[in-house]
Amino acid sequence: MDMSKYPAEPFRIKVVEVPNMLDRKGREDAIKEAGYNTFLLNSEDCYIDLLTDSGTTAMSDKQWAGMMVGDEAYGGSRNWIRLQKTVQEYYGFKHVVPTHQGRGAENLLSRIMIKPGDYVPGNMYFTTTRYHQEANGATFVDVIIDDAHDSTKILDFKGNIDIKKLEALVEKVGADKIPYICLAVTVNLAGGQPVSMENMKEVRKFADKHGIKVFSDATRCVENAYFIKKREKGYEDVAIKDILKEMMSYFDGCTMSGKKDCMVNIGGFLCMNDNDIFTKARELVVVFEGMPSYGGMAGRDMEAMAIGITESVDFNYIQHRVEQVAYLGEKLKEAGVPIVEPVGGHAVFLDARRFLPHLTQDEFPAQTLAAHLYIEAGVRSMERGIISAGRDVITGEHHYPKLETVRLTIPRRVYTYKHMDVVAEGVIALYKKRDSIRGLKFVYEPPMLRFFNGRFELI
Ligand SMILES: *Cc1c(COP(=O)(O)O)cnc(C)c1O
Repeated sequence: MDMSKYPAEPFRIKVVEVPNMLDRKGREDAIKEAGYNTFLLNSEDCYIDLLTDSGTTAMSDKQWAGMMVGDEAYGGSRNWIRLQKTVQEYYGFKHVVPTHQGRGAENLLSRIMIKPGDYVPGNMYFTTTRYHQEANGATFVDVIIDDAHDSTKILDFKGNIDIKKLEALVEKVGADKIPYICLAVTVNLAGGQPVSMENMKEVRKFADKHGIKVFSDATRCVENAYFIKKREKGYEDVAIKDILKEMMSYFDGCTMSGKKDCMVNIGGFLCMNDNDIFTKARELVVVFEGMPSYGGMAGRDMEAMAIGITESVDFNYIQHRVEQVAYLGEKLKEAGVPIVEPVGGHAVFLDARRFLPHLTQDEFPAQTLAAHLYIEAGVRSMERGIISAGRDVITGEHHYPKLETVRLTIPRRVYTYKHMDVVAEGVIALYKKRDSIRGLKFVYEPPMLRFFNGRFELI
């Protein structure tokens, strides 16, 4: 392995957290107790927690210092004023509405924009995003390029929208049934795959032609900006901050989960340029989130987020973040473990179909693999396959996603390369004994977002 490709940590460690290290018997008991659902494990029982990169970021000393100057006023907190200015500066939108996290913004946007019978095209679904779209009466339509569903296809921008699919949808249902296009950067469920600047421009052009709006799910937009800098012609010498701003210039607004690329443990926002949408969002935010000057966040959290936004576009930070993920992927690939390629910005996705080819999709291969990886190595990961995809609201049948994956999601600034080695060794050990692994069945299936609370037992 060529280690020179992987930059050393661009930070020093000032505070440490000492994790528990259960033995194998302890881990077997813990996962059984959790109904073989890694979401239901106690964090105390996980040595390396790769469940998610959401809200798990290690904040900087400057962010912690910012927490001390929280202005917890009910209205007009100075931290809100700073956050609003920072978002306007870095994201370039006219209006900002704070929310407790990304799904709060999705709720507001979906309620404002969608009428029953509408269609919302997007580059692959995301769980909470699609839920809010459907709950407001829309049909979600996947318009990502076909190759995104092929875990072996290597492309620079595998998150791109297929304009032909957009055209086909407009032809079929009419542009007036499409309130907006939802363009995610990067695409989480495709493996953290980026979208090219060129594709964003094309989508903008298409949308303008048909009078359709474009909102971005900007959750991992800084990681996307790094991929553009690294891979797209003409951007080699452009600063991450400027790439981000150009990306956002092609959208009418965005929903943001601050828990990812804004480097905080909680928070989010909704942005838009349109004054009417802003007025409606301010009306709704008080019902669901809080005053338009805090939206469910404490003043101190807004301060931390404002600082986090400025740190997120630092080249050394984002380079290390994305390349550390690539390092784990490279190690697994060298050992022949099937993963989704190319490796995306926030996670390495194990391809559970190829890892456990003896299981049918109804035996939940990814859920099974996540449970066994925990038993093997104390590493907590997440299923992103048939369980996450849920059931069709009309027919009640499982959605059968092509990708059946286990996500090893790397928190920002938390783990070192040596931790990545431990993860890789655990996965490789499991791969060597994959034939002995049996599937799972539901013992409790919640009616919605079933992956969070579902319980299973071994077949
Ligand atoms: C996390 C996430 C969301 C929702 O954000 P929350 O802060 O968890 O509510 C939306 N879209 C994508 C792509 C995400 O990863």
